Amino acid sequence: MKYAFDIGGTKIEFGVFDDQGGILHRQKVATPLENRDDFTSVIAGLVAEADARFAGCDADADTPPPVGISFAGGLDPETGAVISANIPPIKGWPMTRGLGDILKRAVRVENDADCFALAEARLGAGTGKRTVFAIILGTGVGGGIVVDGQFIGGRSGIRGEWGHGNDISGPLMRHGIKPRQCGCGGASCLDPWGAARGLERIHSALHGKDLPSQDITAAWRAGNGDALKTIDVFVDLVAGQLRLMVNVLDPDIVPVGGGLAAEQGLIARIDAAVRANVLGRYDHALVVPGQFFADGGLRGAALLHDVPA
Ligand SMILES: [Zn+2]
Repeated sequence: MKYAFDIGGTKIEFGVFDDQGGILHRQKVATPLENRDDFTSVIAGLVAEADARFAGCDADADTPPPVGISFAGGLDPETGAVISANIPPIKGWPMTRGLGDILKRAVRVENDADCFALAEARLGAGTGKRTVFAIILGTGVGGGIVVDGQFIGGRSGIRGEWGHGNDISGPLMRHGIKPRQCGCGGASCLDPWGAARGLERIHSALHGKDLPSQDITAAWRAGNGDALKTIDVFVDLVAGQLRLMVNVLDPDIVPVGGGLAAEQGLIARIDAAVRANVLGRYDHALVVPGQFFADGGLRGAALLHDVPA
């Protein structure tokens, strides 16, 4: 048995999984944002409740179920301190060690896009495939890379961030859109334009109308001319960046997570635009909706103790 958390800026989702990855129990609570004691009390409370409820169900009764945690951020590889999180109580905290001491069991923490990639590689669209480059098209852009069932590592604790670094002001201006500086400090990254919020920004810039992304995609499916133009530009920008990633990684599959993954027609458009202009030949769909597009963070967190750190 394994416990998993997906910790976001507004809610914490908790899940109890059997050893085959089946979900025995799941629940959501609000994320305490005021102080660390409240935060750790909520986590410890959920674990204690599950320990009581599922006592005797675990074949490995001598060892308490390990905890895997998915969250929107990274860990400093040297200190273990939480970096770039939108959850103030854990910022700067060596959370893996801290929660391990409190919960008195093995704890493993990873970025949520990496957890999604792991879930897809082990149980989802990437099952049996070697190189899985999973991307998030949610509120923002994210990504995780799993090769041979394991994470690929680097020096900084930040990886898979395909939405940052490349200046796309050229393509933006070609479409008549004024570039904007990225939150990371980059001159003009894809990130502000590449996911649901970006779709809304593109629509606003092209047509002067502020609409939620769901309304834009619904209008696109209905054949609305303004929305058709917005989607054309969105696909061009996202596919442009993905082509570079595909040329670098030669992935077997690119599962998509986040809210926009539910738009199957849009994902198929991105896939066609990517495969039409990369160096390798892919005779199957490469960019596909992830099997766990809605809850890949939690699913992957439950698998963290199965992969090397
Ligand atoms: Zn950036």
